[in-house]
Formats: sequence, C-alpha cells, structure tokens
Amino acid sequence: MPNFSRLASQGSFRLLTTSIPPQSPVAWSNLITGMNAGGHGIFDFIHRDPKTLEPYFSASRVEGPKHGIHLGNWIIPLGGGSAEQLRKGKAFWEILDQHGVPNSVFRIPANFPPVPANGQTLSGMGTPDLRGTYGTFSSYTDDPAAETGAVEGGQIIPVQVENSQVKANLIGPDNTFRKGSPPSTEPFSVAIDPLESVAKIAVQGQEFVLREGEWSDWIRVEFQLLPFFGNVKGMCRFYLKQTHPRFQLYVSPINIDPADPALPISTPSSYSRMLSEEAGGFYTQGIAEDTKALSVGVLDDNEYLEQARTVLAEHRRIFDTEFAKFRRGVFFFYFSSIDLNSHMFWRLMDRKHPEYDAALAAQNGSAIAEFYQQIDQVLGEVLPKLDDHTTLLVLSDHGFAPYYRSFNLNTWLLNNGYIKLKNDTNPDSSGPWANVDWSQTRAYGLGLNGLYVNMRGRERDGIVPPGAATDALVKELKEKLLSVKDLQSGLPVITRVDVASEVYQGPYSHSGPDLLVGYNRGYRAGWKTILGAFTSEVLEDNMNPWSGDHCMDYTLVPGVLLSNHEIKVETPALTDIAPTILAEFGIAKSKDMIGQSVFQSNRAAY
Ligand SMILES: [Zn+2]
Repeated sequence: MPNFSRLASQGSFRLLTTSIPPQSPVAWSNLITGMNAGGHGIFDFIHRDPKTLEPYFSASRVEGPKHGIHLGNWIIPLGGGSAEQLRKGKAFWEILDQHGVPNSVFRIPANFPPVPANGQTLSGMGTPDLRGTYGTFSSYTDDPAAETGAVEGGQIIPVQVENSQVKANLIGPDNTFRKGSPPSTEPFSVAIDPLESVAKIAVQGQEFVLREGEWSDWIRVEFQLLPFFGNVKGMCRFYLKQTHPRFQLYVSPINIDPADPALPISTPSSYSRMLSEEAGGFYTQGIAEDTKALSVGVLDDNEYLEQARTVLAEHRRIFDTEFAKFRRGVFFFYFSSIDLNSHMFWRLMDRKHPEYDAALAAQNGSAIAEFYQQIDQVLGEVLPKLDDHTTLLVLSDHGFAPYYRSFNLNTWLLNNGYIKLKNDTNPDSSGPWANVDWSQTRAYGLGLNGLYVNMRGRERDGIVPPGAATDALVKELKEKLLSVKDLQSGLPVITRVDVASEVYQGPYSHSGPDLLVGYNRGYRAGWKTILGAFTSEVLEDNMNPWSGDHCMDYTLVPGVLLSNHEIKVETPALTDIAPTILAEFGIAKSKDMIGQSVFQSNRAAY
C-alpha cells in the first residue's frame, strides 16, 4: 500500500476511537452528527419497541403493512413507498448547506432516506432493495436434492426443465393493492442449449445470452402492482451458475433503479439518474455485496468475489466520474469493500479460525489484501490532486478482529435465571420470545451488543422497578458477564461492559439498551441470540463464512485516521470528525456535538 504509507509518513496517522457499540450504523451516525448514540438515537443494527418488544432495523423504517421479523427472513414492509429516517440530530452537511459550503456525500451509511440537502447525496447502508428488505436474492434450481424455500437473505425456488426450457418468475415487492398483499411477480424464461453450457434468458422483451459462470449486466424490470396504476421499476443481475446436469440460476436482489427510483435514494432526486447515465448502472441497495448468498452456499468464494469486485468497480467508476468534478467544498466518498470482504474472508487468512480451509486459502487467502490494494490505488489518484489549501481525511469507522466463537447472551441469561420460560421445552417453538414468561424475566438481549432490563413502566410486561433496583441489576449483570470464561480457550469472553447512562449524552440516552456488551477479540453475539432466540449451548464455534467482525469491546477495534495535515489530538474519535470538517470552513460546531477538531491541540475534557 505505497500511497497509504506515503500519507502516513508525510502526514498523520492515528488510531480512531470508534463508537459504543462499534457497529456501522452507530459509528457512522457518530461521524455524521458529532454526537454519540444518546444524541442520534442509533444504538445497534436492531432496535426494539419496548411496548411490543418487536425488533426493527434501526437505520430506517419503510412504511407499509406490518410483517413480523422472522429468523432467516428479515422482511421490512415496502408498502406505499414512504420511508422514514430514524437517525436524529443534524448531519454535518446540513450545517455546511446553511453556510453555503458546497458538498457531496456518496453512500454514507445511516442516511436513508437521504436527509433534505442542497448538495448531491446518495444513500448507502440502510437502503432497502425493491422488496423493502436489506437484500433478497433468488436462486432457481431443478435439483431435487436442493432445499427450497426461504433461506437467510434469499430464497431457493424450484423449477422444471422441460424441452430445455425453464419458465419462472422474478419476485417483486408485495402487492399491497391485492388482498393478503401477495408479492408481485414478473415471468421470465430460460432456453438452455441442449449440448453447450449456454442459456438465453428472456424477460420483459429483453433477451441476453449467458455462458455458465457468467454474469449479466443490469437488467431493468418493471413490476405491475395494479394494471395501469402502480408500477415500480427495479433492476437485477443474473448469474448462470450451472446449465447441465442441473440448472442453477442466481438472480440478485431487485435493486431500486437509480434511473427511476421507487423510493428516495438521492438529493436532488434527479442525482441518482444523472449518476447512472454518466457512470453506468450500480447497486443501490445498502449492503451491495451479497454476503448472504455466500453464507448459505448459493454462491461459492470465487462467485461471491466476482460479485464483490463488481461492486468496487462500480464505486471506482462513480468515484472517478465525481471526484474529477470536485473543485471546492466537501467531497465525501464511502467504500464498503474492506468492511464486507473482511467479514467474509477472515477465515482464509487465519489458521486459527474454525472455518479455515487450506485449499480455499490457497485460492483466495489474499482476497482482503487485494481490496486494500485497490483502495490504495484510489488514494493514489487523490494524493497528486491535493494542494496546501485542501485537507484530506481518510478513515475507517472501526477496525476488525476474528470471530471464532459465538456467545449466546439470551441462553446465558436463561441459564443464570434472568430469563424464565413458560415451560421448559423448546423455547423458540413459535418464534423469538414466544415462550418467555415476561412476568418473571428481568433482562433480555437484543441486537449485537444490547442488553436490556425488563423495566416496569417501560417494557410492556416490565417487572424491575426503575431506580435502585434497576441500578443493582445492571451492576450485578456487568460483574457476572465480565467473569464469563470460555473453557475451551481459557479466555474471558467479555472484556468490557458499558452502562448506557455512563457513556451516552443526549436526549436518547435512555431509549436504547441499558448495557452494552463488549466481547473479547474472537467472540461475538451468536446469530440467533441477536433476534432474541435461544440455543442449546452458550458458546459455539462460528461456522459461518462471515468470519471476521467488529461488534466487540470498542477499545479492541479502533478505526484509523490519516490526514495530509498534522493531527494534533492524540486519540481522535469518530465524534471529532463533524467538528473537524466544520472547523476547516471556520464554522463553529453546534453545542450538542461532543467532539472537537482534530487539528486543534487543546482538547477540552468531557
Ligand atoms: Zn462491518
């Protein structure tokens, strides 16, 4: 990484204190607002309504008919096409707008729908696909051995090959105009060459040929919700995985079409269309890398990597188009590649990981390094354009660590008597929480780091009185959690537990979890406990390709901050970035921002 090392040696390079907890929606909200979760109200990927205990995604809410959130099938309703931004507090670019500083903000996480702005913004993480989910792929197969139906992040759809022809449906948004809101569908057909590994796909008057192992370009599709009335446009990419002996076709989640978006994804609203005209089609869904398809085995490492490389290629194309136009003000650009691919490929560079595989590592063990090198090339395009009047900030919102073992917080709470069940068998028989006896339950886990007291007057069936009883329970839980050891490794599982009231400032300090559980390196909340389900074991090996993570003790996973100017603050934090950007234009930070410019040496204690 020659460009990063040049910037580090000629400019400044510091660790960057991340958010509590160190999850992307929280971290980026800290950066965007200069406040912590107490000020912007984003505590986790997943929040809960205390009155119903129903979990929902924290970054945005899309209005429509209610669906339950199911394990393995996280569906947020799309409905009539309205969406609500849940982050509170002013974004730094709103303040820049007030002072007439031009700005463009590309795919910053936790900005969907984009807040009204004068500049050009495009929403990123938090943006749903056309179905209103965070990405639902489809995989079509005639393999009778394949398990069909819903899987995490997608669905496997059985098809028949008859006379070398396949007829199937693309699945669109729920048709809320119809009784029962069934999903809208659009037919497509595949003609498979009887001898060669080639197929011709026809959808809505468009025809294209794919060889086995080949991806299509973006294909535009339109779903008819009510004849002549409500049509929504989307786009998807087809991947012909296999023609013979079995047919297998992957179709990406149907993305919102940037040329004609069904939900607001940019400011001005015409900006996403302009971008797609100038730089070509691109993934609009928040997390574009199809990590779920890799996790469930619908795409293998090489197939996923090709998809992930396409995402970065799209971003680099847009970067080149947009950065060339930048003259003055603020230019912000977010690259998702290092985060998502470190999640997926840690297992191939760490022999201690339970999913390490020497043969796979020989093929793709340098995948993470390759993405770092590509980002270094982007930096190499930027450095020669800098002058003395231009400040460059390069940062990551958090670091990374291995994720070897899962800690199932709710199972631990159950085993330690904090959660009581109505009967002792099969705690999840009909969904998360279904068998919990709330009249005897004192605390529960939800989200990646959240631990909540079942508080009287706040939770629907709360039993712990607020005040001294809650404080005592919080203290007891903290002590007990810090003493949990993994007998397999002899290591503490949890190295830090933060009490919300001690670490958050602002009006929302008490609307999130009461405790933030900080896992040791190598440990994370298990996949099921996150949504309130129970497992038989408290600790389990993580056998998911999602093998690196950062939702841990925040002091163990700091981000990095580099600048071409001298950073005066020894330990800068994400909450310093908004004040820093404002200070560069002589704008005073707003009084609820808790950080300060990293270029000023007199850090005030707070
Ligand atoms: Zn991440």
